[in-house]
Amino acid sequence: MAQIISVANQKGGVGKTTTALNLSHALAIKAKKTLLLDMDPQASSSSGLSADFKSAFMYPVLMGIKNMSSSCLNIATNLDLLATDMHLSGAEMELASQEDKAFFLQKALQDVMTKYDIIIIDTPPSLGLLTLNALVGSRYFIVPLQCEYYALEGLGLLLQTAKETKERWNPTLDLLGIVLTLFDSRNRISHQVAEEVRRHFGLKVFQTQIPRNVRLSEAPSFSKSIFDYDACSSGAKAYEQLAEEVLRLFGQKIQPETREATL
Ligand code: ADP
Ligand code: MG
Repeated sequence: MAQIISVANQKGGVGKTTTALNLSHALAIKAKKTLLLDMDPQASSSSGLSADFKSAFMYPVLMGIKNMSSSCLNIATNLDLLATDMHLSGAEMELASQEDKAFFLQKALQDVMTKYDIIIIDTPPSLGLLTLNALVGSRYFIVPLQCEYYALEGLGLLLQTAKETKERWNPTLDLLGIVLTLFDSRNRISHQVAEEVRRHFGLKVFQTQIPRNVRLSEAPSFSKSIFDYDACSSGAKAYEQLAEEVLRLFGQKIQPETREATL
């Protein structure tokens, strides 16, 4: 059965897509059969990995019109992508009037649960129904936090939303970890934010910090992950380390007592 992880933060530009995409490929390189689902109508994960815009089936899959298993693109060894396009933004409105509006993605996922080891979901910069569907469909979520001013702003609301989601719709949902992104070691604020977040959230913060690395920002314009674009870059090394940390947590079956969730 696949482990399903949403990458969520209602703030834009914090590194959700960069993390979802590169963590997925890092896990695939480590021989885990991995599926990346793009739940953001802005389709950055989709265009960041593939230029095949005709195969963007997240919308019909979410609405139950197409099967998930037959709608994914193979991107690399062990890495599949369920791509999206802007039609997905219409789903928010369509879902709003449905009684089971929180469960559409969870239902669609049943089709692929035994096909993959890990499923990563990239989410939009909002706490609307698309993010809700992602959280209801997931066992865990990862929160990317950028090491800049106001990093913690909005985090309380995100954790509160996750807590309500757990209580109302998905009792197994847990925070897998917070990952510090866009870390600039020459910048004092980066160190200050990292320290503050670690003091606050302790073991719920991944050891790995993702550095600000220009190669990470260039790779998507070539529709490549960092591993295909520049495997020697500091960004590639960081995402490889993050994948190792995630796998270590799964290997330990996650110790809830030592990684006390904030939910
Ligand atoms: P989100 O999905 O949260 O909106 P993105 O992953 O798209 O955030 O990142 C926002 C922008 O910052 C993108 O242009 C991306 O290429 C860039 N970026 C993200 N992480 C890094 C990083 N570690 N180093 C350099 N640029 C980054
Ligand atoms: Mg994004």
